[in-house]
Amino acid sequence: MSTLGVPDLSAPDPAPPANPAEELAFVRARARMVQAQLRFRGIRDERVLAALATVPRQAFVPAHLRARAYEDGPLPIGLGQTISQPYIVAFMTEALALQPGERVLEVGTGSGYQAAVLSDLVAEVWTLERVPELAERARSQLALLHCANVRVRCGDGFLGWPEGAPFDAILVTCAPEEVPPALVAQLREGGRMILPLGPQGQAQQLCLLRKGPGGLDVQSVMLVAFVPMVPGGPEP
Ligand code: SAH
Repeated sequence: MSTLGVPDLSAPDPAPPANPAEELAFVRARARMVQAQLRFRGIRDERVLAALATVPRQAFVPAHLRARAYEDGPLPIGLGQTISQPYIVAFMTEALALQPGERVLEVGTGSGYQAAVLSDLVAEVWTLERVPELAERARSQLALLHCANVRVRCGDGFLGWPEGAPFDAILVTCAPEEVPPALVAQLREGGRMILPLGPQGQAQQLCLLRKGPGGLDVQSVMLVAFVPMVPGGPEP
C-alpha cells in the first residue's frame, strides 16, 4: 500500500498514445474535474483554474491508471510515491497567490504534475526530487509538454536549491516534522511558503508561511496526509 491508502500497483509503464476518442474523454473529464472538484469547493483564482484546466494529468500517472487520472484523489506513481489530489494541488497553488514574473521552488517533484501547473503561472520553476528515477521521469515528461521554464534536479529538499535563491514562493509536497531552516533562508523577504508539517501516519497541518522583516508569520490552513519528507539526500 502507498502511504495514502491507494494500492501501489506500480511499475511505471510506457503509455500507448491516446487515440482521438480517448483524448476527448480526457478533455471532458478535466473540465468536469475543474467544475466539480475545484470551483465547487471554493477555488476562485481564475489563473489557477485555467492551469488545472490545461495540464493533462493523465500524462503524469502510470499508463494503467490513466482512466482514473481525473478522480478526486491521489494516485500511486511508483516507488511508493503519489501524485496529489487535484484539489490539494489547486489549493496549495492558490494559497501562494503567485504572480507571473515570480520564481518558485517546489520540493518533491514526484510525477512532475504540480511543477507543470506552476509552469503555467510563473516565470521559473525549480523542482527538487530525492528519488533519481522519479526526477528523470518527470524531467522527460515536462520536456515532452514543453514546460521549458521548469528545472528538475535530483537532490535533498532539506538543503533547498541555493543557486536559485531567493525564491518568491516555495511549495513543499512531502511532509517534514519541522520547517527546514534552509528553505526559510532561501525565501525572499515577503515570500510565501506552503508545506505540510507533522509526522507520517498522523494528520499533518498544511501551513502557509510568510517571511516578514520580523520573522515568520505562520497560518495553519487544513489537515492533510502527505508522504514524509525523507532526510539524507538522493537515493544512491
Ligand atoms: N508534487 C508531486 C507529488 C509528490 S509526492 C506531484 O505533483 O506528483 C512527494 C515527493 O517528495 C516524492 O516523490 C518523494 O520522493 C519526494 N521527497 C521526499 N523527501 C524528499 C526530500 N528530502 N527532498 C526532495 N524530495 C523528497
